[in-house]
Amino acid sequence: MAGLLFGTGGTPHSSRTPSTIDGIKRIAELELGCMEIEFVQGVRMGEAGARLVAETAAREGVKLSAHGPYFINLNAREPEKIVASQERILQTARIAAICGAQSIVFHAAYYLGDPPEKTYSTVRKYLAEVMNQLKRENNRVWVRPEVMGKPSEFGTIDELLELCTELEGVGIAMDFAHWHARNGGFNSYSEFTSVLQQIKQRLGEEALGNMHIHVSGIAYGKKGEIKHLNLKESDLKYVELLRALKDYQAKGLVICESPNLEGDALLLQETYSSL
Ligand SMILES: [Zn+2]
Repeated sequence: MAGLLFGTGGTPHSSRTPSTIDGIKRIAELELGCMEIEFVQGVRMGEAGARLVAETAAREGVKLSAHGPYFINLNAREPEKIVASQERILQTARIAAICGAQSIVFHAAYYLGDPPEKTYSTVRKYLAEVMNQLKRENNRVWVRPEVMGKPSEFGTIDELLELCTELEGVGIAMDFAHWHARNGGFNSYSEFTSVLQQIKQRLGEEALGNMHIHVSGIAYGKKGEIKHLNLKESDLKYVELLRALKDYQAKGLVICESPNLEGDALLLQETYSSL
């Protein structure tokens, strides 16, 4: 894959209709490179629909990823909620594979007052079961828990890199806006490169060649993320971020989750190619 591809989290606003197919066509018209299909309210696409999505994406030259449902918590108290969470990850991965998507992204868990180490082993245990099932199904989609924006949410960079080293097929969805919002820091060139360095050290050079990145402007407070903003209305130093990604020769998908979606995706793409 050549360099970084830029695209939107969900169908662009300027698509003819909100359908995934029209979204992919719009991405191609805008000369963006990728799109994340949002299954955040549930996986409602069937196999036949997914095959059409795959054909369209291949024809238009658009790379895809998929975002799993929000209703996932691998640290839930109730066993039935764990099973339902695992099932939602599996459903996302199965449909994503038919769509020809490279990765799925999801919010893994909440601590619910548990110590982070205890939450980690719980998440690892239940995610390992998911990965074993996908392996049995010969499903090779990258499964990427996302770096989360609130201290109440499981998903620090350390936690996710640890999962990546322990579970085959697990990657990191590196959400730079969330990481900035979680602690108020990580908003300069040297901090962005320190993250990339950390990924390289833990997962090897090849991980930088297979990145899945989320970027948006973001509002935050003491409890971390409040809401997403357009880049120019936020304090995110996106030019420094893009410079760091370029200098580290990061490759993969950059999904823009700003409210204006394709507006900021194009801004990121144009800025990146001007560096
Ligand atoms: Zn997300």
